[in-house]
Amino acid sequence: MAIAILAGGFVAWGTAPVEPPVASDVPAIVTPEISLEIAEPTEPLPVPEDGVPDDTLLGHIPYEEAPADSLAPIVADGSILLRRAAAERFITMAEAAAAEGILLEPVSGFRSIDDQEYLFFEVKAERGQIATTRAEVSAPPGYSEHHTGYAIDILDGSRSDIGLVEAFETTDAFRWLQENAAFYSFELSFPRDNPQGISYEPWHWRFVGDRHSLETFYRATNLTTSEASPEANSPPPATP
Ligand SMILES: [Zn+2]
Repeated sequence: MAIAILAGGFVAWGTAPVEPPVASDVPAIVTPEISLEIAEPTEPLPVPEDGVPDDTLLGHIPYEEAPADSLAPIVADGSILLRRAAAERFITMAEAAAAEGILLEPVSGFRSIDDQEYLFFEVKAERGQIATTRAEVSAPPGYSEHHTGYAIDILDGSRSDIGLVEAFETTDAFRWLQENAAFYSFELSFPRDNPQGISYEPWHWRFVGDRHSLETFYRATNLTTSEASPEANSPPPATP
């Protein structure tokens, strides 16, 4: 049997293609999306083929909605979904926290553009907010990190009195996340004084543990940087 190493680093066996497992035979939660494309950390991330979006809206960056078949549940009733790789890592992280007595309670994961339509416009109207004010605390539809299936809102299961508010930063869950989330490839999307001008959201974390999620979010960072310095001829920041 011949083995060929292809240009992309993939190994191809010289036989008929292997049949992928039939999705319906496999419980979704135990089938992580193994991506062979994670390798080659020394290469710069390529520009996405669909082009870099050059426009933000009220500080928010456009995101594509994750395909339904890329999502997996992270709670028993299946009501909260993340992309498979993120779901796997979130579950592992929550188990590690639980072993230390910390209850990471997911409250919102993947959100469709239709869901966000309601969250942005209906709540905006109910509160009588103008668009710029609303956009400080909520992304317009089409511009939420939750569309990607990589973002998750987390509360402290032992502090039901604290919701999605800044005071979440006083909880044990937040302190635990600050110290440990990076080991599971989660990071805070909107820290205090973030360059996007989005209000501080200590409960909102995003997965950046594979190539696709990195491209999804660091394309955004590049955007923010270039917008902040339109000359684009200043030297790159020193990276230790
Ligand atoms: Zn969120």
